[in-house]
Amino acid sequence: NKFEQLGLNPAILKAIEDMGFTEPSEVQEKAIPILLQEDTDMVALAQTGTGKTAAFGFPLIQKIDANRRHTQGLILSPTRELCLQITNELKNYSKHTKGLNTVAVYGGASITDQARQISRGAQVIVATPGRMQDMINRKLVDISKIEYCILDEADEMLNMGFFEDITAILSHTPIEKSTWLFSATMPREVSIIAKKFMHDPVEITV
Ligand code: AMP
Repeated sequence: NKFEQLGLNPAILKAIEDMGFTEPSEVQEKAIPILLQEDTDMVALAQTGTGKTAAFGFPLIQKIDANRRHTQGLILSPTRELCLQITNELKNYSKHTKGLNTVAVYGGASITDQARQISRGAQVIVATPGRMQDMINRKLVDISKIEYCILDEADEMLNMGFFEDITAILSHTPIEKSTWLFSATMPREVSIIAKKFMHDPVEITV
Protein backbone atom coordinates (compact mmCIF):
# COMPACT_ATOMS: atom_id res chain seq x y z
CA ASN A 1 0.00 0.00 0.00
CA LYS A 2 1.24 3.42 -1.02
CA PHE A 3 0.45 5.06 2.33
CA GLU A 4 2.84 2.59 3.99
CA GLN A 5 5.64 3.71 1.68
CA LEU A 6 5.15 7.31 2.85
CA GLY A 7 6.36 6.25 6.30
CA LEU A 8 3.11 6.38 8.26
CA ASN A 9 2.80 4.28 11.43
CA PRO A 10 0.43 1.29 11.89
CA ALA A 11 -2.13 3.21 13.98
CA ILE A 12 -2.55 5.81 11.24
CA LEU A 13 -2.51 3.18 8.47
CA LYS A 14 -5.35 1.42 10.28
CA ALA A 15 -7.34 4.66 10.43
CA ILE A 16 -6.70 5.23 6.73
CA GLU A 17 -8.04 1.77 6.02
CA ASP A 18 -11.13 2.48 8.17
CA MET A 19 -11.78 5.66 6.20
CA GLY A 20 -11.46 3.78 2.95
CA PHE A 21 -8.63 5.86 1.47
CA THR A 22 -6.83 3.63 -1.02
CA GLU A 23 -4.26 6.00 -2.56
CA PRO A 24 -2.58 9.13 -1.29
CA SER A 25 -3.50 12.31 -3.14
CA GLU A 26 -0.79 14.40 -4.83
CA VAL A 27 -0.36 16.84 -1.96
CA GLN A 28 -0.20 13.93 0.49
CA GLU A 29 2.41 12.15 -1.59
CA LYS A 30 4.54 15.29 -1.77
CA ALA A 31 4.16 16.59 1.79
CA ILE A 32 3.95 13.56 4.07
CA PRO A 33 7.44 12.02 3.57
CA ILE A 34 9.11 15.41 4.03
CA LEU A 35 7.11 16.37 7.12
CA LEU A 36 7.73 12.97 8.72
CA GLN A 37 11.45 12.90 8.05
CA GLU A 38 12.64 16.37 8.92
CA ASP A 39 11.62 19.13 11.27
CA THR A 40 11.23 21.64 8.50
CA ASP A 41 9.00 24.55 7.63
CA MET A 42 6.77 24.10 4.60
CA VAL A 43 4.76 26.30 2.27
CA ALA A 44 2.20 24.26 0.33
CA LEU A 45 0.10 25.77 -2.43
CA ALA A 46 -3.00 23.60 -2.42
CA GLN A 47 -6.70 24.22 -2.96
CA THR A 48 -9.36 22.79 -0.73
CA GLY A 49 -10.52 19.35 -1.90
CA THR A 50 -6.96 18.18 -2.64
CA GLY A 51 -6.64 16.21 0.61
CA LYS A 52 -4.53 18.88 2.32
CA THR A 53 -6.02 18.22 5.76
CA ALA A 54 -4.55 14.72 5.77
CA ALA A 55 -1.31 16.02 4.20
CA PHE A 56 -0.61 17.93 7.42
CA GLY A 57 -2.85 15.88 9.75
CA PHE A 58 -1.17 12.48 9.33
CA PRO A 59 2.39 13.77 9.97
CA LEU A 60 1.17 15.93 12.85
CA ILE A 61 -0.49 13.00 14.61
CA GLN A 62 2.53 10.78 14.06
CA LYS A 63 4.95 13.37 15.43
CA ILE A 64 3.02 14.34 18.55
CA ASP A 65 3.92 12.58 21.78
CA ALA A 66 0.53 11.27 22.91
CA ASN A 67 2.06 10.20 26.25
CA ARG A 68 2.49 13.84 27.18
CA ARG A 69 -0.57 15.97 27.79
CA HIS A 70 0.60 19.49 26.96
CA THR A 71 -0.38 21.21 23.73
CA GLN A 72 2.14 20.39 21.01
CA GLY A 73 0.31 21.23 17.80
CA LEU A 74 -1.74 24.29 16.84
CA ILE A 75 -3.79 24.59 13.67
CA LEU A 76 -5.22 27.98 12.74
CA SER A 77 -8.10 28.03 10.28
CA PRO A 78 -10.33 30.86 8.99
CA THR A 79 -13.85 29.77 10.01
CA ARG A 80 -15.75 27.89 12.65
CA GLU A 81 -17.00 25.42 9.99
CA LEU A 82 -13.49 24.63 8.79
CA CYS A 83 -12.25 24.41 12.36
CA LEU A 84 -14.89 21.80 13.19
CA GLN A 85 -14.28 19.95 9.93
CA ILE A 86 -10.52 19.71 10.59
CA THR A 87 -11.14 18.62 14.19
CA ASN A 88 -13.45 15.85 12.95
CA GLU A 89 -10.91 14.68 10.38
CA LEU A 90 -8.10 14.65 12.97
CA LYS A 91 -10.24 12.64 15.38
CA ASN A 92 -10.75 10.08 12.62
CA TYR A 93 -7.05 9.99 11.75
CA SER A 94 -6.08 9.49 15.40
CA LYS A 95 -8.79 7.04 16.44
CA HIS A 96 -6.21 4.24 16.91
CA THR A 97 -3.58 6.56 18.40
CA LYS A 98 -4.04 6.12 22.15
CA GLY A 99 -4.23 9.22 24.32
CA LEU A 100 -4.24 11.80 21.59
CA ASN A 101 -6.82 14.53 22.09
CA THR A 102 -7.84 17.25 19.66
CA VAL A 103 -9.90 20.24 20.80
CA ALA A 104 -11.68 22.83 18.64
CA VAL A 105 -11.56 26.48 19.69
CA TYR A 106 -13.79 28.98 17.83
CA GLY A 107 -15.98 31.99 18.43
CA GLY A 108 -19.72 31.92 19.06
CA ALA A 109 -19.53 29.06 21.55
CA SER A 110 -18.79 28.91 25.28
CA ILE A 111 -15.21 29.88 26.02
CA THR A 112 -15.50 28.20 29.44
CA ASP A 113 -16.42 24.86 27.87
CA GLN A 114 -13.51 25.11 25.44
CA ALA A 115 -11.12 26.03 28.27
CA ARG A 116 -12.35 23.05 30.28
CA GLN A 117 -11.72 20.70 27.36
CA ILE A 118 -8.21 22.08 26.99
CA SER A 119 -7.50 21.70 30.70
CA ARG A 120 -8.26 17.98 30.41
CA GLY A 121 -5.33 17.73 27.99
CA ALA A 122 -5.25 18.69 24.33
CA GLN A 123 -2.11 17.82 22.40
CA VAL A 124 -3.69 19.42 19.34
CA ILE A 125 -5.78 22.59 19.22
CA VAL A 126 -7.64 23.59 16.06
CA ALA A 127 -8.61 27.23 16.35
CA THR A 128 -9.95 30.31 14.63
CA PRO A 129 -7.54 33.23 15.20
CA GLY A 130 -9.91 35.60 17.04
CA ARG A 131 -11.01 33.11 19.71
CA MET A 132 -7.49 31.76 20.07
CA GLN A 133 -6.11 35.23 20.73
CA ASP A 134 -8.91 35.82 23.25
CA MET A 135 -8.02 32.59 25.10
CA ILE A 136 -4.33 33.49 25.16
CA ASN A 137 -5.12 36.94 26.58
CA ARG A 138 -7.26 35.36 29.30
CA LYS A 139 -4.52 32.82 30.03
CA LEU A 140 -6.90 29.93 29.35
CA VAL A 141 -4.41 28.20 27.09
CA ASP A 142 -0.65 27.68 27.08
CA ILE A 143 0.99 27.52 23.67
CA SER A 144 4.53 28.08 24.92
CA LYS A 145 5.51 24.47 24.14
CA ILE A 146 4.05 24.24 20.64
CA GLU A 147 6.26 22.24 18.28
CA TYR A 148 4.06 22.28 15.19
CA CYS A 149 2.08 25.23 13.96
CA ILE A 150 -0.14 24.91 10.90
CA LEU A 151 -1.71 27.82 9.08
CA ASP A 152 -4.53 26.40 6.99
CA GLU A 153 -6.11 28.44 4.20
CA ALA A 154 -3.70 31.23 5.06
CA ASP A 155 -4.93 33.44 2.21
CA GLU A 156 -8.52 33.18 3.50
CA MET A 157 -7.48 33.97 7.07
CA LEU A 158 -5.66 37.09 5.91
CA ASN A 159 -8.56 38.10 3.64
CA MET A 160 -10.78 37.95 6.69
CA GLY A 161 -8.53 40.42 8.51
CA PHE A 162 -6.75 38.05 10.88
CA PHE A 163 -3.23 39.38 10.21
CA GLU A 164 -2.91 40.98 13.67
CA ASP A 165 -4.33 37.97 15.51
CA ILE A 166 -2.09 35.55 13.63
CA THR A 167 1.08 37.54 14.30
CA ALA A 168 0.11 37.95 17.96
CA ILE A 169 -0.58 34.21 18.34
CA LEU A 170 2.64 33.19 16.58
CA SER A 171 4.62 35.52 18.81
CA HIS A 172 3.43 33.44 21.81
CA THR A 173 4.88 30.24 20.35
CA PRO A 174 8.51 29.14 20.68
CA ILE A 175 10.94 30.18 17.95
CA GLU A 176 12.10 26.56 17.70
CA LYS A 177 9.14 24.91 16.02
CA SER A 178 7.99 23.75 12.61
CA THR A 179 5.49 25.91 10.74
CA TRP A 180 3.48 24.47 7.87
CA LEU A 181 1.54 26.99 5.79
CA PHE A 182 -1.20 25.84 3.42
CA SER A 183 -2.78 28.31 1.01
CA ALA A 184 -4.61 28.24 -2.32
CA THR A 185 -2.94 31.49 -3.42
CA MET A 186 0.14 33.43 -2.41
CA PRO A 187 -0.83 37.12 -2.04
CA ARG A 188 1.59 39.62 -0.50
CA GLU A 189 0.26 39.29 3.06
CA VAL A 190 0.84 35.52 2.99
CA SER A 191 4.45 36.03 1.85
CA ILE A 192 4.92 38.55 4.67
CA ILE A 193 3.76 35.98 7.24
CA ALA A 194 5.98 33.33 5.64
CA LYS A 195 9.01 35.64 5.68
CA LYS A 196 8.41 36.81 9.22
CA PHE A 197 7.71 33.45 10.85
CA MET A 198 9.24 30.75 8.70
CA HIS A 199 12.78 29.62 8.11
CA ASP A 200 13.84 28.21 4.74
CA PRO A 201 10.49 26.54 4.02
CA VAL A 202 10.27 23.61 1.63
CA GLU A 203 7.84 24.69 -1.08
CA ILE A 204 5.39 22.34 -2.74
CA THR A 205 2.66 23.04 -5.29
CA VAL A 206 -0.19 20.83 -6.46
P1 AMP B 1 -9.50 18.31 2.06
O1 AMP B 1 -8.85 18.85 0.79
O2 AMP B 1 -8.49 18.06 3.12
O3 AMP B 1 -10.63 19.18 2.52
O4 AMP B 1 -10.10 16.85 1.73
C1 AMP B 1 -11.18 16.67 0.85
C2 AMP B 1 -11.89 15.34 1.10
O5 AMP B 1 -11.14 14.24 0.57
C3 AMP B 1 -12.14 14.99 2.54
O6 AMP B 1 -13.47 14.55 2.67
C4 AMP B 1 -11.18 13.86 2.86
O7 AMP B 1 -11.69 12.99 3.83
C5 AMP B 1 -11.02 13.18 1.51
N1 AMP B 1 -9.68 12.58 1.31
C6 AMP B 1 -8.50 13.07 1.71
N2 AMP B 1 -7.49 12.29 1.32
C7 AMP B 1 -8.03 11.25 0.64
C8 AMP B 1 -7.48 10.09 -0.02
N3 AMP B 1 -6.16 9.86 -0.06
N4 AMP B 1 -8.36 9.23 -0.62
C9 AMP B 1 -9.68 9.48 -0.59
N5 AMP B 1 -10.26 10.54 0.01
C10 AMP B 1 -9.45 11.43 0.63
